[in-house]
Amino acid sequence: MGAFNVLRATCPCPSCTRVVPVAIQFKLGVTYQHEYAIGDAVRWGRNALGHAGAIHVVVDGVADGPCPDCGYACDRDFYVHVEQDRITRVEAADGRWDFVAARATFIVVRE
Ligand SMILES: [Zn+2]
Repeated sequence: MGAFNVLRATCPCPSCTRVVPVAIQFKLGVTYQHEYAIGDAVRWGRNALGHAGAIHVVVDGVADGPCPDCGYACDRDFYVHVEQDRITRVEAADGRWDFVAARATFIVVRE
């Protein structure tokens, strides 16, 4: 594992179903433990992953800790949606996007 960024968001816990805060690790743009919230613009610069200006990118995301409410600690995967360089939303991963097959931490849906 190299460097990554962290997206602070809220999402329903798959176990207790309460909406709880999650810290989602993802790799896009400059990866250097930058903290993001929904609506933030992705930082670009030297050694950035991906490139600026794509219309829609889906990024592989993983919650880095258990649910703060019930302690549910299964690996929780997310899709982080980046539209025109802004983090617009996050959703639980359901297999629609295959980052292993893409051999990347992100998939450009629309350039
Ligand atoms: Zn929970």
